[in-house]
Amino acid sequence: MTLFIALCLVSALSFAQEKIPVDTISRGNLTVILYNDKTWQYVDIQPAASVQIVDSVNITAQNWITNSVYAQKPDYARTKDTCIIDFGADVNNYSFPVRGKVYSRFGMRSGKMHTGVDIELKQDDTVVAAFDGIVRFAGWNNSGYGNVVVIRHYNGLETVYAHLSEVKCMANQKVTAGELVGFGGNTGRATGTHLHFETRLKDNAFDPELIFNLQTGVLVADKIPLYASNFDYMKYVDNSEYHVVKSGDTLYAIARKYHVSVKQICDLNGIKETSILSVGKRLRLR
Ligand SMILES: [Zn+2]
Repeated sequence: MTLFIALCLVSALSFAQEKIPVDTISRGNLTVILYNDKTWQYVDIQPAASVQIVDSVNITAQNWITNSVYAQKPDYARTKDTCIIDFGADVNNYSFPVRGKVYSRFGMRSGKMHTGVDIELKQDDTVVAAFDGIVRFAGWNNSGYGNVVVIRHYNGLETVYAHLSEVKCMANQKVTAGELVGFGGNTGRATGTHLHFETRLKDNAFDPELIFNLQTGVLVADKIPLYASNFDYMKYVDNSEYHVVKSGDTLYAIARKYHVSVKQICDLNGIKETSILSVGKRLRLR
């Protein structure tokens, strides 16, 4: 800009004096302008402001839900096309969230799908963000995650850090790879202290081992293809969720708590909005 203004000024002056810039030489922040009359002039050009992490793909534009660990209901159809997770500039800028023995891998576990990996840690160990991104959810989750953080990264990937003893970030906060997001614990539905770590694309979980070598914590590749087969498990998983009615519960309060509509609960359970809920009744929510 400075150069542009300088050149404009110079051209304005040169018009009268026939002094025209013919070349420029750059040296660090200094630029020398050479003129047709064999004179020269230094022009001080300030370096461009350091590039900030920008939301270049506008990651908060769609499904930016800060009050739920899922921005939308998992759906196999959403990831049935092959796609590439591109780590681009982040290929050397990542941090495995916590280093420890892997207790439990991604996959079926006692008849239920385990949608992440469980990594050993000690109570209150530091858990860090895997990549740069923006925190989408940070807080308590009732359906088993306990204290949990969900971060959306600039390539669309989301990572989930669950069972934390304490959450140390907030929704909408920008984080960088390696930044503290919480302390390890065993909150929620956890047997023992560990980190439950998930990787998700469009709210569909896939095996974190496709991205990370769990033994070394090293990124597998800079571009990782995900195929429909990586989400095949979803075709066989029962995503139903239930709530057992407690004293004082209302349909509206339950619907709000689980982020579903009252109509959906009524339809799934064959009840009316005006139905009396009996304590102990098991209501299907999804
Ligand atoms: Zn787990």
